[in-house]
Amino acid sequence: MAKIIDGKAVSLEVKEALRDKCAEIAASGKRVPCIAVIIVGDNPASRSYVRGKLKAAEFTGFESRLAELPEDVREAELLHMIDGLNKDAGVDGILVQLPLPGHIDEDKVLDAILPEKDVDGFHPVNVANLWLGRPCTVPCTPKGIIKLIESTGLEIAGKKAVVAGRSNIVGKPVAKLLLDRNATVTIAHSRTPDLAALTREADILVAAVGRPGIITGEMIKPGSVVIDVGINRTADGKLTGDVDFASASEVAGFITPVPGGVGPMTIAMLMENTYDAWLAMQER
Ligand code: NAP
Repeated sequence: MAKIIDGKAVSLEVKEALRDKCAEIAASGKRVPCIAVIIVGDNPASRSYVRGKLKAAEFTGFESRLAELPEDVREAELLHMIDGLNKDAGVDGILVQLPLPGHIDEDKVLDAILPEKDVDGFHPVNVANLWLGRPCTVPCTPKGIIKLIESTGLEIAGKKAVVAGRSNIVGKPVAKLLLDRNATVTIAHSRTPDLAALTREADILVAAVGRPGIITGEMIKPGSVVIDVGINRTADGKLTGDVDFASASEVAGFITPVPGGVGPMTIAMLMENTYDAWLAMQER
C-alpha cells in the first residue's frame, strides 16, 4: 500500500516558515511582503482559488490586495490597473487569476506584469529563463510538485520520469524541473499512442491531464512516486484527480491525494514566490 504524500502538511510547514520570517520583518519595522490579486468576473472555481490564496496571505501575515473587476471590464482598464501595480513600490507580487473572459487577450495581460512581480512565473521572461537555466520565478504548481517528490526522500537523479500533459503551466515546466534534477523525462500528451506503456516504466509519474481516473493502478510501476495534479469535479460535485486513487495506491510507493496533495502546495509556493519577490525588491 502506497504512503500518502500529505500536501497539506508539507504546505503548512512552508507557510509556517514564511509566517515566522514575516513576523521578523514586521518586528524590524519593515514593510511586509504584499501580493495583489486581480479577479475578473464570477467564475466560481476562480473565486474559490482566490479565496484560498488570500487566506494563505492572511496566515503568513503578508499584506494582500484584492481587485475584483466585472466580467465585461475593458482590456485597457485591466492593463491600466496592472501598470499601476507595477509602479507601486508597496506591491511585490501581482497575480491575475486565470482564465480571463474571451474578449481579453490573456497573453497581453501576462506580458504586462513586470517579470520581477510575476509571482505565478508565467511571464515570457521567466519562462525563457527557466528553460535557459537562469534565475527566474518558478511557476507555483511545478515548484510544489518537486517539493512533494523531494519530501519522499527519493533521489530524483537517474530516475525515469513521465509527465502526462504538456501545458505551459504544469506539464512543460515540471518536465524541465525534473530534467534539471537529472531525471530522464518523457512528456506524454493527447497524441501519445500508448500512455500505459510509458507510465508502467515511470519511477516518477506526474499526471496533469484533467481527466478523472485516466491513470489506473495497472498503468503504474510498483513502488513508484505518483503525483496527481488533476482537479476534476464529479457529477455529484466532489473533487477527484487524474489518478484512480483506489487502484493506484495498491501499486505505487508514494501517492498524492486529491484534494490535499498538489493543490495546497501550489498556494504555499505562491506565498514563497511573493516572499522571494519582496526579498529581491529589498536588494534593489
Ligand atoms: P490543460 O492545459 O488542459 O492540458 C492538459 C494536457 O493533457 C494537454 O497537454 C493534453 O494534451 C494532455 N492530454 C489530454 N488527453 C490526454 C491523454 N489521453 N493522454 C495524455 N495526455 C493527455 O490542463 P492543465 O492546465 O495542465 O491542467 C491539468 C490538470 O491539472 C487539470 O485538471 C487542472 O485543473 C489541474 N491543475 C491543478 C493545479 C493544482 O494546483 N493542483 C494547478 C493547475 C492545474 P495536448 O497538449 O495534446 O492537448
